Amino acid sequence: MTERIETGACFCGAIAAELRGEPFSVVYDHDDDCRRAIGSPLTVWVGYRVDQVRFTRGAPKTFSRTPGVERSFCGDCGTSIGYSDAGLAGEIHLCIGFMDHPERFAPQAHAFWRLKLPWVEMADGLPRLDTTSRQRDAALGDPATRRCG
Ligand SMILES: [Zn+2]
Repeated sequence: MTERIETGACFCGAIAAELRGEPFSVVYDHDDDCRRAIGSPLTVWVGYRVDQVRFTRGAPKTFSRTPGVERSFCGDCGTSIGYSDAGLAGEIHLCIGFMDHPERFAPQAHAFWRLKLPWVEMADGLPRLDTTSRQRDAALGDPATRRCG
């Protein structure tokens, strides 16, 4: 069986990446921090281990507002690329819009359902979680309660 290889790129093309193997998670996110950072009512994050991801062109810029959470984006066009979280060591979660073939990543669940906008309606039957879908390092707290500013 051949290894699954996916690719991603930002809107202007300055940043591109190659993803090897299967992502370990594909999850809708209704979190309000991500909403503001991305400028979208919700998004879908595609989770890979860091060693599955290789940037083949350019290097993303990063920004952190929430302790432990680093967001990456294209410094030229602003496309959201992903985030990493100190509570999720070794993982990178890529924004569905960065993927060249987003249709191949069917979401498995909804994270932060309690923060969903009231007019967003989903009849997909997927699990609805009130927090992140990933088992985080508890010492770092809940992202929803440790934001600064
Ligand atoms: Zn770009």
